[in-house]
Amino acid sequence: MAASTSSMRAVRYHGPGEPFHNDEIPVPQPGAGEALVRVGAAGICHTELHLRHGVLNLGVAPLVPGHEIAGEVAAVGPGVDAVRPGDRVAVYYYVGCGRCSWCRQGQENLCRDVVDQFGFTADGGWAEYVVVPARNLVPLPDGLTVEEAAALGCSATTALHAVRSVADVRLGETVVVYGVGAVGYALIQLCRLAGARVIAVGRTPAKLALAAELGADVTINADELNPAVETLRLTGDEGADVVFELVGITETMERSVAMLRRRGRLVFIGYS
Ligand SMILES: [Zn+2]
Ligand SMILES: [Zn+2]
Repeated sequence: MAASTSSMRAVRYHGPGEPFHNDEIPVPQPGAGEALVRVGAAGICHTELHLRHGVLNLGVAPLVPGHEIAGEVAAVGPGVDAVRPGDRVAVYYYVGCGRCSWCRQGQENLCRDVVDQFGFTADGGWAEYVVVPARNLVPLPDGLTVEEAAALGCSATTALHAVRSVADVRLGETVVVYGVGAVGYALIQLCRLAGARVIAVGRTPAKLALAAELGADVTINADELNPAVETLRLTGDEGADVVFELVGITETMERSVAMLRRRGRLVFIGYS
């Protein structure tokens, strides 16, 4: 089944330092094993700002960014029977080689021979449609909106990996989420689910208010207080069991070390 229109609107990256453009480009067509997804929601990750500013440059331009994608299958190519038009789906944005040890363990994000990363090396979700391998589609349960599902594509899964696999946050621990953005909000919720006490650090009052709404027990405005000093005060001079550093500058890295308990776990997520 072909898409009903031949061209679509897309926001595209045109190289480091260049502003994103609103472009009209052809609707991509699904080949064998692929599906055309009508994008219902696509997230904006800080990584897109890194692309825009040249912090990250993979040399592919013009490119449709957007790696947090959810929507509905619009058409499928030959040989696809796992999904069909009308299915609500989220997109997993890595296409690994499928043969290396990482891919065989289901960790395509560590593949040394990645075929494609939608939104980075191949057109992603900031468009009306995107074509991806059908095996990269995850069916959405009823009750999960496309907006919620899109965030699971990067920020929420980054947080899940950090909380469970890297830091292994435990019941009763004190955790600092140093930087409140999309990953930080997911971290706060996941740490609360793990039974931890959460201290959120930021500079923007509205973001800190949302952090509190999502479950942070304490919020610290870094413009008003030194988060390291304050964390030590809140933990009886012990320091935090776990610190997630989401900013990636020298000052926040140094303070993250200073607020850490003996044998604490410090997880760097931010880069800038
Ligand atoms: Zn991302
Ligand atoms: Zn691989």
